[in-house]
Amino acid sequence: MKIILASSNKGKIREIRAYCDYDVVAFSEIVEPFEIIEDGKSFKENALIKARAIYEKIKDIENEFVVLADDSGISVPLLNGEPGIYSARYAGEGASDRDNLEKLVEKLKERGVSSTSAYYTAAMAMVDDKGREYCVHGWMHGRVIDEARGSNGFGYDPIFIPEGYDKTLGELDSSVKKAFSHRNRAIELVRVLLKAQTK
Ligand code: IMP
Repeated sequence: MKIILASSNKGKIREIRAYCDYDVVAFSEIVEPFEIIEDGKSFKENALIKARAIYEKIKDIENEFVVLADDSGISVPLLNGEPGIYSARYAGEGASDRDNLEKLVEKLKERGVSSTSAYYTAAMAMVDDKGREYCVHGWMHGRVIDEARGSNGFGYDPIFIPEGYDKTLGELDSSVKKAFSHRNRAIELVRVLLKAQTK
């Protein structure tokens, strides 16, 4: 069984490979990368849009596979859930991780807070080789602060402090994130789905 990942984000591919004991390949290793319009209203909808689009391209080429697509981001309740599904393009289309992080820091400063609660969400959609669809979620709660600290992880990690810690994911060892990240929690559930399927 091969897991075909919809993502071409290197940080995510690295994390999913580290958590999974299946053969994991990026879809771009099988077909030419193409544009997928992520116009869903939730992490789940966007993950399913990606998984279905790749499934359509792959289904006649591969067998014994599942397509796995994730959509993830960070939500700040004080900012009405921003950046949420717009996490990857918070500072605009094509914005870098740093630009997006800086925009969030600016928003916190505008609100006059140096720290506020926040959580990461990961939705993982799976389409199997028979076209059956599944979706699971994982969350990591904590808070965001108004200054970047450390350089581990990616995205908003340098301003995110997980619950029970006083350092950011940028400063903490990657084993902390591996133990209970939103993506890892969602992957745990994907593992359950895969096990049930291969029985
Ligand atoms: P996606 O590629 O549409 O799922 O967008 C995910 C975006 O959310 C990334 O570009 C990051 O900005 C943010 N994000 C998701 N997961 C993480 C994480 O584990 N650490 C830091 N940022 C994350």
